[in-house]
Amino acid sequence: MIAQVVPILLAFGSNLGDRSGTIAAAQRELAASAGIIEFSPSPLRETIALTLDGPDETAPRYVNGVARATTTLSPHQLLDLLQAVESTHGRTRETRWGDRTLDIDLILFGGRVVQDERLTVPHPRAFERDFVLAPWIALEPDAVLMGHGRVADLLARVGDTTLPLSAETEAADAAVRETR
Ligand code: ATP
Ligand code: MG
Ligand code: MG
Repeated sequence: MIAQVVPILLAFGSNLGDRSGTIAAAQRELAASAGIIEFSPSPLRETIALTLDGPDETAPRYVNGVARATTTLSPHQLLDLLQAVESTHGRTRETRWGDRTLDIDLILFGGRVVQDERLTVPHPRAFERDFVLAPWIALEPDAVLMGHGRVADLLARVGDTTLPLSAETEAADAAVRETR
């Protein structure tokens, strides 16, 4: 049987270490992985950390982006791959929505709805996150989030607090990269 090729949307975030370098490396690894066919990343944005207590200006800022891809993997095989790449880059889980070297979330898996103990797709919080919506419309201006409508309208509703990567962020990430 020929495996079905399904379009997916992935969201990336990092607020520890070489944030932009980690996301770029993770994207290269995913693009080269078995079962991932096409892979197109968005530009990266810089964002205020969202914690369980709300936006936290004192926490290290995030670098966020999304990527469009196509896959022949099943949703759970893809989640295994995303979590393996997170682990490679030192992801640990102590506090919910705590600081992290790398988060990769599955936002959409074709038109599929998945709801079980490991996976909820479409991602249930993507519609209200400027750090997902802003890079997404930069990549796909006419994007639609299944169940929620046009991404441009969603972003207008929540307000866009994201910024282009600052020179300071790029310099800070490069400094971490050099100490590796
Ligand atoms: P959020 O989902 O609100 O962005 P998070 O990304 O910080 O939170 P994680 O600690 O990365 O959460 O993941 C917690 C669990 O969420 C994972 O173990 C995974 O099984 C589950 N999960 C459910 N749906 C998804 C999804 N669409 N993408 C990624 N992980 C998911
Ligand atoms: Mg997440
Ligand atoms: Mg996650």
